[in-house]
Amino acid sequence: MSQKNIKKIASERIEILMRKADETFKIDRKRADRYANLARKIQMRYKVRFPRKWKRRICKKCKKFITPGDNCRVRIHKKMIVITCLECNNVTRIGI
Ligand SMILES: [Zn+2]
Repeated sequence: MSQKNIKKIASERIEILMRKADETFKIDRKRADRYANLARKIQMRYKVRFPRKWKRRICKKCKKFITPGDNCRVRIHKKMIVITCLECNNVTRIGI
């Protein structure tokens, strides 16, 4: 299989895992964390880019799966998206 195809499959698996994490979060947070961690491992192993929409859903510090309004807070401040993880209180700022 070509390198390109391997990367494509890796990206698809990340997407599926993160979607699963999102679905599972309401029922079982620990399981959601496991899915998110698997997605991270695939991303590191195959050196693919993490999908933009899912990137913010994993806390950079505690690596937990975070959901706005649940275990993280999202605010807009001075043209920045400020994400506060309520699991570890880590603050991430992303420029808009
Ligand atoms: Zn955190």
